[in-house]
Amino acid sequence: MSACIFGHANMPFEPILSRHRDVMISPADNYKGFTDLATAQVEGTDYRVHVRANVGSTVAVIAPHGGSIEQYTSDVARDVAGADFNLYMFEGIRHAGNYAALHLTSHRFDEPRCLELLSSCDHVVALHGCAGDVQQALVGGLDEPLKAAVAKAIADLGIDTRLRGHQFPATDPKNICNRGRRGVGVQIEMTMALRLHGPREAISAAIRSVLLALATV
Ligand SMILES: [Zn+2]
Repeated sequence: MSACIFGHANMPFEPILSRHRDVMISPADNYKGFTDLATAQVEGTDYRVHVRANVGSTVAVIAPHGGSIEQYTSDVARDVAGADFNLYMFEGIRHAGNYAALHLTSHRFDEPRCLELLSSCDHVVALHGCAGDVQQALVGGLDEPLKAAVAKAIADLGIDTRLRGHQFPATDPKNICNRGRRGVGVQIEMTMALRLHGPREAISAAIRSVLLALATV
């Protein structure tokens, strides 16, 4: 499973799988939870988990599809958290096929170290990446005030930012962004175009400024 076949013209399976991931069944689509993922994939070889708890903070910044699963979401999460907030990243580190093998969908994401961290947090911001040729940020989750503040901060950068009417509402209570101790959180989906060509550092700083203001209230 972990052999690197990416780029071999005579073995086109993985490139095809990733190109048509919306219509093809990938292994990760069958995972009912982290236990299934952990049975099929190897920590340290296929994925790694990074937790940096910050005892003084009740804010968590998470990238549940980090590393090579949804590119650049780890970078944004790390920058948003800085040295101030709790940070959790589940990162794909396979040579290829990270999304297909490791994308445990958000309402089934129950990795124990993440749940443990969130159990002591009031505010959760989850960073994700979605497809899309237009630079957009699609904001969801059940934490309405924080959603609005984060969306405004990103929109103020001149980025097309949507709070509703998009395909990632993240209103399922089991969505990992809503599993902090208040049962609400924020999910930010960044399109591929935004992650590749947008002002990632400015986006991180904007989200971070909202969370810093929150922490001092
Ligand atoms: Zn995601």
